Formats: sequence, C-alpha cells, structure tokens
Amino acid sequence: MFVRYTGILKTCSSLKQIIRRAPLVPLSHCDAHRCVMYSSRLLHTSSPRYVNPLFVALLRPLSKVAAILVGRGFRKWWQSLPQKKKKLLLQHLFRNKYKYIIGSIVVNSASYSYYETHMVPAPLTGRRRFMVFTPDQLFTISQHTYSEEVSQYGHLLMPENHPMVYQVKRVGNRLLQANNNIPQLYTKSWTVTLIDHPTVNCYVLPSGDIVMFRGMMDLLENDDQVAAVVAHEMSHAILEHASEQLSHGYLLDVIILLPLAVIWAFIPSDGLALVTQWFLNQVMKIFLQLPYARNLEEEADSVGLKLAAKACFDVREASAFWGKMSVLDKLKERKGERSEDPAWLSTHPSNVERQDNINAQMEEALSIRNFCLCPKLSDRDPRHTIAMLQEQLMNVVPTNKSASK
Ligand SMILES: [Zn+2]
Repeated sequence: MFVRYTGILKTCSSLKQIIRRAPLVPLSHCDAHRCVMYSSRLLHTSSPRYVNPLFVALLRPLSKVAAILVGRGFRKWWQSLPQKKKKLLLQHLFRNKYKYIIGSIVVNSASYSYYETHMVPAPLTGRRRFMVFTPDQLFTISQHTYSEEVSQYGHLLMPENHPMVYQVKRVGNRLLQANNNIPQLYTKSWTVTLIDHPTVNCYVLPSGDIVMFRGMMDLLENDDQVAAVVAHEMSHAILEHASEQLSHGYLLDVIILLPLAVIWAFIPSDGLALVTQWFLNQVMKIFLQLPYARNLEEEADSVGLKLAAKACFDVREASAFWGKMSVLDKLKERKGERSEDPAWLSTHPSNVERQDNINAQMEEALSIRNFCLCPKLSDRDPRHTIAMLQEQLMNVVPTNKSASK
C-alpha cells in the first residue's frame, strides 16, 4: 500500500548492500585535484547523436546574427528592386507555390524527426525531454565553472574541519547511502564546497560538485533541513537538468531563427525591428524559458523529497524550511525591502509555492519513510510552528496598504 512512488526510488538500500555494490566515495571538501579526476561512464550514449556544447555556445549567437542579417539584407534588397521586377518575382512565387510548400513540409518533417529522436526519458521520473547534450559533455564545462567559482571565493573556502562542512558531509553521505540503488547517483563523484559568504545560495554542477554558501547554511536549522537542500541539489544532477536546460535553450534558439529573420525582413525600419525583437525575446522568456526552469525546480524538489525520505530524514522539515523562507519574504516586504521577484518573472517557484508543492507530496514522502522502516517521527510537527508564524504574520503585522491608509 505504500508503493505509490515509481521506478528505482522504491527500493530501500541497506548499508550492507551499499558496501557490496558500490563503495561510497566520501563527500570531501573539494580541491582542484579531486574535482578533475572523475568521469562518469554510465551516462555515455551512442544514439541519438549529441551536439558539442562548446560548438553550440559559439553557434547560438552567430546563428541569431545571421538570421538578422539575412532578414535585413532581404528587406534592403527588396526595397531596392523596381516595381516591375517585384511583380515578376511575386508571379514566380505564385506559380511555384506547391514546390515551396512541399519543400517546407520536407524541412519541417526533418526538424520534427530530429526533435523526436532526441526525446529521452528523464531518470527516475520518466518525463520525456529534448536532449542534445549529455552530462559528460558538460563535465569539462562544469569543472571550468567550478574552478572559476573556487578561485573567485578561494580565500573564503571553509576548512574541512569546520562544523558546517562536517554537517553537510554527514547529511550528504546519509543521502548517498540510502539512495545507493540509483545509478546516476552512485556513479558520480560527489563533493561539497562551503563558501564563507552571506549569499543565500546553493547549487550543483553536472559533475556532482555541490557549492553551498554560509548565508544558506545560516537559514538551515537542523540536519533535516540541510538534507532538503542537499537532496534538491543532488536531484538536479541526477536528473541532468543542466544538460536539459542547455538543450531547451538550443531548441528555443532554433525556433526563434525564422521569426527573427521575418521581423528584420518585413518590418520597415531597423529601430522598429529592434523593438519587435526585444518584445519577442521577452515573450519567449516569460512564456517558455522561465516556466520551464520553474518546472525543473519543482521536479528537483519532488525527487529531493523522496531521496530525503529514503534516508529517513524528517521530510516535514522541507516544508517548514520553505515556509520559513516565505515568512522572511513577507517580513522583508512589510519593511519595504525588496524580496523575491514575482513568480512569473523568476527561474524558481515562489517560496510559498514550493512549500505548497512539498505539502501536496508529503503523504507520499511519509509513506516512503514507512516503507523503508525509518524510525517514527517526533510528535512535534515543524510545519505547525511555521503555520502558526504565518498566521500571526497575517493577523498582526500590518500590510503596506493598510499602513498607508
Ligand atoms: Zn534548484
């Protein structure tokens, strides 16, 4: 009755199994030598054909410039033609319309076939997504990003014996041990780097390097909350979200090429074309890029919750943490400080949404804990404390509107 979650997540690993199947690489404070020595082989895929991300990084802006130049060149050329010549060209176009229609059908079919052959299921969730990059291909880039980040904050790296580093390592190892049956997890060489900086942030690279800032650690009250954040980051890496987002960006860039050329070809002045292009970019960002990024965040929250449940953490703390973040946002808002961006302009769901989504999956997460024979949770539910805080905030602290009345 508890097996409502799907796929590989439903298996509970015992410590004995872990030691036999894949000895864990202990999470260690990252150093340059350790970070470059690993390469994941399991995720190599021979088919479909994948694109080199460095090649695409160069090609993406160039293709946009080319589309603009082609469109603008066409407009200038058309404007310079005498009326008679324009008429002849339009007649030629009309006479051969079926050839052009068939040609565009062939091109569209080939594009669709390329798209379909690059749709692959996500690990664990099975969600089909467009992928032209593999995590392996991003490995080198992510190592470069990591080195840059570390050199930027080099003097702020926390020593390995720092209690915060110790805490993250302890939590991370427990997550790894409990989820050892997930290939994408145990084939990575996980490392964690803590940076002594007040930034409230934490991120993971496709290689499995987790970078956490002290500002984030200061907000986490216990191991269970640290687990919520670390499991979320691990989920991003397991689900190959970095490769997916790059692939999605690549797809959008290709889709936008034709409208871009059309804008520059048919809008009569460069100034108007530039404004229209800006507007098109905003529409793409608000309706396609940002919602996609938010969906990936929700997926990482969802899978992270299950990883934490399997490791017997108190998953209710994940909800409490996002609840606390929403309370802090509200307090900042009431003080007139800028809090988070509106949800529709953000790459992440709002803190309240994250709390709600986690609450909606709480029953399933608690079922996983039961299924894995985890110790009973304490009667003190951390969600109640946060709910009380949120309620008090609604009732006691005046809103800006009511304060200005
Ligand atoms: Zn995230």
